[in-house]
Amino acid sequence: MTSAGLNEKLNKLRAGVLGANDGIVSTAAVVLGVAGATSDIKAIATAGIAAVIGGAVSMALGEYVSVSSQRDTERAYIAKESALHAEDPDEEFAHLVRGYMRDGLSEETATQVAKERTASNPLKAHLELHYGIDEEDIVSPWSAAIASFISFFLGSMLPLAAVLLPPDPARVVTTFVVTLIALAGTGAASAKIGGADPKRAVARLVIGGALGLAVTYGIGWLFGTTAL
Ligand SMILES: [Zn+2]
Repeated sequence: MTSAGLNEKLNKLRAGVLGANDGIVSTAAVVLGVAGATSDIKAIATAGIAAVIGGAVSMALGEYVSVSSQRDTERAYIAKESALHAEDPDEEFAHLVRGYMRDGLSEETATQVAKERTASNPLKAHLELHYGIDEEDIVSPWSAAIASFISFFLGSMLPLAAVLLPPDPARVVTTFVVTLIALAGTGAASAKIGGADPKRAVARLVIGGALGLAVTYGIGWLFGTTAL
């Protein structure tokens, strides 16, 4: 596997963990906010399911739009480089030599590398040099959208199950605990993917998550006791 291919794999994993994380946090916030206001299980379930579907759809749509526009940009680069290459192959060859010399190769070696790369796949060489992209790594917007839908959905099932399954008095506490454990898991996973210190990532997510959930629960409770 090329390093670009490995990066692509890591990016996908990272996107999956982030999607799950969003699903956990946003669904937990909604169900706890509602549970703060009412103990009506139907109301909590309705809000929770709406949060899951709405969140997963919006994640997927956002991902579709962003990957589509990224792909359009990459296609434009490909078209531009192909046209330049057809117009003036000598100038394009000189590009490669200059680029490799900037990267620290001697003129002789740079010329040799440029020759061999031009012979095998000139477009690939120019795309890597000018834009750092690999034609084979271009992601499909549909697969990106489906992947983030699924990861958000799976993440959101944890707080939803935690609020719906236990008997009434244990609901809120169970949801808090399950959500914080799940966040510790996504924090550890994303730190591992990025090669960072897991303790810090876990602490950040768990403390941030606990504060966020306490605030949403508190606001729901205030509404429940005063406005409703
Ligand atoms: Zn070029």
